[in-house]
Amino acid sequence: MATKRDYYEVLGVARGAGEDEIKKAYRTQAKKYHPDLNKDDKTAESKFKEVSEAFEVLSDVQKRAAYDQMGHAAFEGGFGAGARRGGGAGFSGFSSDQFSDIFEEMFGDFMGGGAAQGGRARAQTANRGADLRFNLDITLEEAFAGATKKIRVPTWAPCEPCHGNGAEGGAEPVQCPRCSGSGRIRVQQGFFMIERTCEMCNGAGTVIKNPCKSCNGQGRVRKDKTLEVKIPAGVDDGTRIRLSGEGEAGMRGGGPGDLYVFLGIKAHKLFTREGADLYCRIPIPFTQAALGAVIDAPTIDGVMTKVTVPAGIQSSQKLRLKSKGMSVLRSANRGDMFIEIQVETPVNLTKKQQDLLKQFDEAGGKATHQPESESFFKKVKDLWGELKE
Ligand SMILES: [Zn+2]
Ligand SMILES: [Zn+2]
Repeated sequence: MATKRDYYEVLGVARGAGEDEIKKAYRTQAKKYHPDLNKDDKTAESKFKEVSEAFEVLSDVQKRAAYDQMGHAAFEGGFGAGARRGGGAGFSGFSSDQFSDIFEEMFGDFMGGGAAQGGRARAQTANRGADLRFNLDITLEEAFAGATKKIRVPTWAPCEPCHGNGAEGGAEPVQCPRCSGSGRIRVQQGFFMIERTCEMCNGAGTVIKNPCKSCNGQGRVRKDKTLEVKIPAGVDDGTRIRLSGEGEAGMRGGGPGDLYVFLGIKAHKLFTREGADLYCRIPIPFTQAALGAVIDAPTIDGVMTKVTVPAGIQSSQKLRLKSKGMSVLRSANRGDMFIEIQVETPVNLTKKQQDLLKQFDEAGGKATHQPESESFFKKVKDLWGELKE
């Protein structure tokens, strides 16, 4: 068995490092050597295991105390075996929670809280990559007819020029000149010598001399992958489309997670939707409402259709166009379209029009009905009887 490196050295922190410092160092290292970003790189893989193991011990108060006292010997034989979480061969105890943490940080808003929870719930199959979420807004027409959309999903890839180590040309990091590699600096303060973390290397003991220009020393670069999403006709707001295997890559041979595309339907200028039915308000002149007419109505297909408006139609009455609504998901059926009539009062009448309307009023006989107002004033009378002027 090869000699094991000191856990503090592995994480690049000083012996007295606090919890936060250890966590931070671990995250930096784990990201750097993460297998997803270092495909088929055996060195990175073993570094990643080493870093994970060091973190497992140093992040646990009891294990850390044991390690501080006895070094690696603390975990050989009886003590360590029980202390570790079950998990069989290899490095154990690397929980999926820690992965979620990392990826929440890496992907930020892109990965919704729900996806992270999903990853946590599947702890039994911890090697499987987490599911990711992508929000995609489409138009009502696209929801009606179906569509194929290209989406760009952000991911990280190792920086090629520096082979992922962050140094220009892939050079090895060099010993920190400020602290000579110890990660600590001693300073005189009054009578005392105080030791603190070296601010030049942040306690790592090594520095990158010339940071890689392509990745600013990060060792990784943003790389978007383009995916095609087939949207079936009839989808609604909130419909999820699963792209199997397009989520986060799995660990240690585990399968990748899925990518869930959450659809949002943009508001439409003419139509509102209720399930598979569509509603459209169409204004018509009061003369057409009174006399009846054939009008043109727009439909979601993008064509105009002729609609017969019966004489005497009232404002807000609805006309149904059967099977002119939305497509129904996984079906050849369509919903209906409802036209809500809005009777419009003309403005800026000419003198002649005003005269004609007065004549129209005077010509009204007993047979002319004003159904709305008749029923309204009947209700008033029912409530209070004849009202005095
Ligand atoms: Zn230093
Ligand atoms: Zn680089």
